[in-house]
Amino acid sequence: MTTHPIHPMTTPEHRNTAVDPALWRHGWYRYARVLASPNFGPRPANALVDLIVIHSISLPPGKYGNGNVQRLFTNQLDWEEDAYFQRIRGLQVSAHFFIARSGELWQFVACTDRAWHAGESSYRGRTNCNDDSIGIELEGLEGSRFEAPQYETLAGLCAALIQAYPIAHVAGHEHIAGGRKQDPGPGFDWILLQNSLALPDRSLPEVG
Ligand SMILES: [Zn+2]
Repeated sequence: MTTHPIHPMTTPEHRNTAVDPALWRHGWYRYARVLASPNFGPRPANALVDLIVIHSISLPPGKYGNGNVQRLFTNQLDWEEDAYFQRIRGLQVSAHFFIARSGELWQFVACTDRAWHAGESSYRGRTNCNDDSIGIELEGLEGSRFEAPQYETLAGLCAALIQAYPIAHVAGHEHIAGGRKQDPGPGFDWILLQNSLALPDRSLPEVG
């Protein structure tokens, strides 16, 4: 379950020679539990990965710690287990990362590859945000608050991403797919994330 996959690189490792081999190996983060998802593809050639997209998810909504998100991202979810699952039956999605309520970090797709988290989207003048973003799912519910260990893990992960990729923006799914998505919602503390990473205002969506 946690064996490290040998993953063919579909795009060159980011040109930044400062990528720390102690933290990253072909787009896999050292401090994440690896559970490889089949739901990914190559990024477009020369994709500029400059956006982190924050999401929230729980299955069924509001139920935590049951492994269902990990099952969804690996096409292992039992659609019959809960009535809610009928609404997402057959869905094939993924994110690069998932942060559980405990702060535990999972990775499903190499950051060098394109995960399927954003859907139809646009931000900073570009569409199809899956092409050139990193998707991070927080275990949670739109409108609810998140746990301190989740922010701690998120801050450490974002710092490592900023070191390895030319990240210029951090936004919520609600900001890149407005009108269609509401996650992570008003329970997410953007100011806390901004302060912990010392991000300039221009890197964040206009919030609060
Ligand atoms: Zn989302």
